[in-house]
Amino acid sequence: MFHTKSAEETLLDLECSIGGLSSSEVASRSEHYGKNYLEEAKKQTLLEIFVEQFKSPVIYILLIAAAISFAIKEFSDAGFIMAALAMNAVVGTYQEYTASERADALRKVIKTYVNALRDGNRVEILSEDITVGDIVFFESGVKVPADIRLLETYELQVNESLLTGESIEVNKNCNYISSNVDEPLGERQNMLYGGSLVTKGRAIGVVSAIASQTEVGKIASLLASSKETKPPLILRMEKFSINISKMIGIIAILIIMLGIYREIPLKEIFFLTVALVVSAIPEGLPVAITVALSVASGVMSRRNVIVRKLSAIEGLGSCTLIASDKTGTMTQNRLSVEYFVTKERAYNPDEHIDEHVVLVAILCNESTFHKKEGESVFIGDQVDVALLRYTLALDESLFEKYKTLKPLNQIPYEPVNKYSAASYEIDGKKVHFIKGSPEVILGKCELGEDDTKYILKQVDEWAAKGFRNIALAYKLSDEKEIAKEGYIYLGFAAITDPLREGVKEAVKTAEEAGIEVVMVTGDHPNTAFYIAKELGIAISKDEVIDGLEISRWHERGAYKEEIAHKRVFARVSPEQKQLIVKTFQDLGHFVAVTGDGVNDAPALKFANIGISMGKSGTDVARESSDLILTDDAFSSIVNGIEEGRVAYDNIRKVIHLLISTSFAEITLILLSMLFFIPIPLLPVQILWLNLVANGFQDMALGVEKAEPGVLKRKARDTKEPIFNKAMLSRVVVGGFYMGACAFALFYTLLEMGYSEDMARNITLLLMVLFENVSTFNSRSENNSIFKINHFQNKFLWISVIAAQGAHIISMYNPFMQSLLSISPVSIEMWTTLLFIALTLVAVMEAEKFFRKRFSS
Ligand code: ADP
Ligand code: MG
Repeated sequence: MFHTKSAEETLLDLECSIGGLSSSEVASRSEHYGKNYLEEAKKQTLLEIFVEQFKSPVIYILLIAAAISFAIKEFSDAGFIMAALAMNAVVGTYQEYTASERADALRKVIKTYVNALRDGNRVEILSEDITVGDIVFFESGVKVPADIRLLETYELQVNESLLTGESIEVNKNCNYISSNVDEPLGERQNMLYGGSLVTKGRAIGVVSAIASQTEVGKIASLLASSKETKPPLILRMEKFSINISKMIGIIAILIIMLGIYREIPLKEIFFLTVALVVSAIPEGLPVAITVALSVASGVMSRRNVIVRKLSAIEGLGSCTLIASDKTGTMTQNRLSVEYFVTKERAYNPDEHIDEHVVLVAILCNESTFHKKEGESVFIGDQVDVALLRYTLALDESLFEKYKTLKPLNQIPYEPVNKYSAASYEIDGKKVHFIKGSPEVILGKCELGEDDTKYILKQVDEWAAKGFRNIALAYKLSDEKEIAKEGYIYLGFAAITDPLREGVKEAVKTAEEAGIEVVMVTGDHPNTAFYIAKELGIAISKDEVIDGLEISRWHERGAYKEEIAHKRVFARVSPEQKQLIVKTFQDLGHFVAVTGDGVNDAPALKFANIGISMGKSGTDVARESSDLILTDDAFSSIVNGIEEGRVAYDNIRKVIHLLISTSFAEITLILLSMLFFIPIPLLPVQILWLNLVANGFQDMALGVEKAEPGVLKRKARDTKEPIFNKAMLSRVVVGGFYMGACAFALFYTLLEMGYSEDMARNITLLLMVLFENVSTFNSRSENNSIFKINHFQNKFLWISVIAAQGAHIISMYNPFMQSLLSISPVSIEMWTTLLFIALTLVAVMEAEKFFRKRFSS
């Protein structure tokens, strides 16, 4: 294996060179090795999902009921139960299957890229397109796409927890050569393994194995367990179902005892109990919620938000504060150098300037450029690209002259450092170049106190005009390590970064929705304030605080009050970012945080909702986040919050419909028990009601569009349970009213001399009508049913018409008639029932009215 070989031997073995592969080699190798991705861990087959559908207590009871029906020769009952179960399972399978397909499709939207050397140029390619022998580049934040023998390393540290389970960072070194072929993976310092994350430094390496040949590929089957755990909401609903089941168990025992006392035949008691269980346990709830969540993540992806963890959808509705990055999220991250400002004056970009400036800009620079079909293609950090563009426009020959020069030593840019440096030998002289934030660079320059003060004032002034300033300096020195001080100051590049479109509006929308927006940036306070002001995030400079001040307040202990009223956090370190998030959380906020760098990972994990960038962010940040913005835009966060609220509303609608129906059915059955009248609905009728006449409306409620004003109301309190006062009141009032009406109807019909069969037939029809009216009532918790647009959701109409239609057809179909013991009713009866069903609207409107009255 390559960890025991030298770099030269490795390249020889892999039949490639440090110069990279040519297009033709890539083509033939790709054909031989295939694409670089792992086949998905074995997915559940349709059959497995189908079988899953039967694993629930309700189904067991129904299966027993079917078996007993069969044994006592009630073949049509047995048949119906089985048919209903099969249909239920088919629908459930279809829903779960499409939900998981949708999730897979979303996962594939996020592609990872690597920098590789192809035809002599450093280019960005999809990770899945690299092949054995490719020369690839690594920097902090990158996810290693395959197995790599390192050829050059600079202070490289990686996290190999995926392979070794150890989550501490390990150092890597290209010069290491092992003598032990069987050395544990974690100790092979000259190798990088696919799936690990680069947390620090830079490296160049050659791809030694891809896809299933990699070490992760070999153990891929073990990784199948990385499946997402169920979102808390679904867990809660499952628990809720179980609790209800227990309660129903107790009620069932009571009914059995009551039945025996009343000397009802055992057979009837049994079926009554079954009917009760079926009607009361909301077993469709978890599936309906899963569907609602998966629909929501589909909608979000169309609005540029990819959901990595389903639980985030629920959380988004509770978000009260967004702590956002500036560069790239609020601005375009399309940097361009507008001026070069020396101590004396500001130079225009086309003005001739000290050659040292050009040298620093070219040589202390990690970006590269090549021409493709006449267009210049730049790859690398945007600050570096901006400086490179600037110098190319000034004098392309200097770039040509120096581009092949190799640094003697370097300090690559890491956000914690806020600068980068490199040393070279030029014409026999050793020179150190350095660039970065003016505060840091000035601290390393040989300057009088007055000069330093003057320059800092200059920087402040330029920053106040919105420029992002990068200072440049150099030093002639024979030191081997990069010099720490004694640099000659050159000046700073004043860089602009245009605002992104739509951010200002999004900030306003967020504010209307009761969501505060703060900016957290590594940039200068003045630059940050200028932009924050443009966007309406901050009004006065009092709302700005920088990292230094934060540490000072932190030491004194009184930092919370300080942080609470700030809107712009400048020059902050990653630890401070986490502190800021925590403080806002302590103040009662539910915080969404954006981040793109390696160092943002802790803050992202810490946040209530971690948001990373699909375009510019690092792989590390993405892996720690709950959501990914595919367009990196701030406004997408606000879209996400809107969709999160809609999803939560829809889930509540589904819950309301299902639970109030169950409540109605229990009420109906219990009242009949108490008043010693025959059972008002046969078990098959209850099954029909729950699985067919009421089987699809909940799915339609799960795809409801936003109610007007979703973004105008305040965020939901995270501690508030789903069964809050409003939900309880609605379920109890609605459910009880429906159950009591049905009972009263059944009772009256019997009194009037109707046969039991006919009375049940009519009661069942009333329940079906109630169900459909209730579907429309479920559409809004607070808005009047007369004030919502009922033609927005066509699925709702389809489901209601289908359910009602199926029942009407069954009333006239001889086979269904005998199966369900139903028959047609007169027009007068229809009108009466319809009238009763519609009174539910009045009741629920009154409920809304009084709830509003008494809760304020
Ligand atoms: P932001 O929060 O705006 O994304 P960063 O954390 O990216 O800010 O950058 C912080 C500071 O580091 C910048 O203001 C700049 O002074 C410096 N800096 C950024 N990129 C580079 C680079 N490539 N080389 C040197 N210094 C840089
Ligand atoms: Mg940045």
